[in-house]
Amino acid sequence: MDQTNGTNGIKVATTETQAETGALHKVIIIGSGPAGLTAALYAARAELRPLVIAGITPGGQLMMTTEVENFPGFIQGIMGPDLMNNMIKQVERFGAKILYEIVSAVNFAARPLVVKTESGEYSAQSVILAMGAEANWLGLPGEQRLRGKGVSACATCDGFFFKGKEVAVIGGGDSAMEEANFLTKYANKVTIIHRRGEFKASKIMLERAQANPKIAFVLNSEVADVLGENKVEGLRLKNTASGDVSEMKIDGLFLAIGHHPNTGLLKGQVELDERGYVKVLNNTRTSAEGVFVAGDIGDPRYRQAVTAAGMGCMAALDVEKFLTEK
Ligand code: NDP
Repeated sequence: MDQTNGTNGIKVATTETQAETGALHKVIIIGSGPAGLTAALYAARAELRPLVIAGITPGGQLMMTTEVENFPGFIQGIMGPDLMNNMIKQVERFGAKILYEIVSAVNFAARPLVVKTESGEYSAQSVILAMGAEANWLGLPGEQRLRGKGVSACATCDGFFFKGKEVAVIGGGDSAMEEANFLTKYANKVTIIHRRGEFKASKIMLERAQANPKIAFVLNSEVADVLGENKVEGLRLKNTASGDVSEMKIDGLFLAIGHHPNTGLLKGQVELDERGYVKVLNNTRTSAEGVFVAGDIGDPRYRQAVTAAGMGCMAALDVEKFLTEK
């Protein structure tokens, strides 16, 4: 029996046909972005019959983007959701089982390893963690409405669409400086808007941004709302010192106020670094035997679909080797 997943229209088979709670799986992959699905592709082709626990909105961060132009192989680019739907169909073709549920708990001290969802408990000889990371957002109504229509949290992904335009970058850390500098390759003017008068960014990154003639700074200012109906047209700003409200015309808004890895489940299960990312110890191994990591959940540095996919491939190959050695 099939049911349709409401978020993107992908046909989903029901739990009974997809995953066996009593069975011992060779590998369970948690997450269904480029990292998880590439791991699933390699694991399925290696006949490991992977079970992918995809979450209820499968596809990861690319489901929120519009056109992806930097994933190799698509001459004209591809829409983020189309790319992810293709990846899902591709792994299903090779027999990967996909369960559209959320993992509620894991036990990596147990043997076999245990992964729990609302429908039951799944056992596995190995697990690949690929739950990704999420950009922090301001939480404003206009920001949510215009995501993918001028509001972005990834300059590398979307900067190209702002050739000759004026954009703003929110944040005062290294990411804000780096994204602003990058955006000057395309935009005519980039305004960094920061809520304080002091910066969190390192001196060298700040000085580089300050030296860039295309970058302007608006300090002690918070974004009160993003203006525009179907595309970004401007910002409403509130001065944090005086309380004065003003408006600013822009064509694009880039958030650079940090990311958070989806590691809430993993506390006490695998070692995390000081920022909460999974510690990658040896190739794609984690501190828990049989547990591997792929993509943004273990990579605060590159955070690209193609690097996540590459790491997914590596994790599946490492799992294959681990299972053979066992
Ligand atoms: P950071 O946490 O360093 O900085 C986040 C910035 O966003 C801060 O200035 C913070 O303001 C601001 N901010 C946070 N929440 C809000 C909010 N709700 N409204 C407005 N502003 C907000 O994150 P980054 O992503 O910049 O950097 C993460 C790490 O990655 C850092 O360790 C950084 O050094 C590193 N990095 C290194 C790079 C490099 O070396 N090339 C490039 C990019 C990142 P406030 O200062 O007031 O707290």
